[in-house]
Amino acid sequence: MRRIWAPWRLEYILDEKKKGCIFCEKSKESKDVENYILLRGEKCLVMLNAFPYNNGHLMIIPYRHVGSIEDLKEDETREMMKLLSLMTVLLKKVMSPDGFNVGMNLGDVAGAGIMGHLHLHIVPRWKGDCNFMPVLSDTKVIPEALGQTYQKLKEGIDGNLGK
Ligand SMILES: [Zn+2]
Repeated sequence: MRRIWAPWRLEYILDEKKKGCIFCEKSKESKDVENYILLRGEKCLVMLNAFPYNNGHLMIIPYRHVGSIEDLKEDETREMMKLLSLMTVLLKKVMSPDGFNVGMNLGDVAGAGIMGHLHLHIVPRWKGDCNFMPVLSDTKVIPEALGQTYQKLKEGIDGNLGK
């Protein structure tokens, strides 16, 4: 079976024309629900991917505009991993996936959609989910599904994980 791991594609196509860094912009705005920001830590935030490759596709993003892993500070790396662990627990609890893809696309050649601001993708996977991927990539279907996913995960955080 061919591995499907291309969450950057749509993001890249759709954000290409925008100026500036949408991660920096969104993190400064105070409309977390509209921006699908699920959780704010001290150094990083967790956001739903607006162009998800699968249900529950999350990104962990440092507040600081950093493009390379080696430029991350130790406390940023630590919180990123801590949030990764926390979000894995949350997704398991709320969405019962069979597995996860976790990774970063660093640099143009690797398919980074948002240049210059690294982010860690967490994509929950279910057995057989490749079959409905094309449906999920339809931008008309996503906004409603995103809102529902956001709500479910938010409730999961408030109910079980605390802050
Ligand atoms: Zn940025």
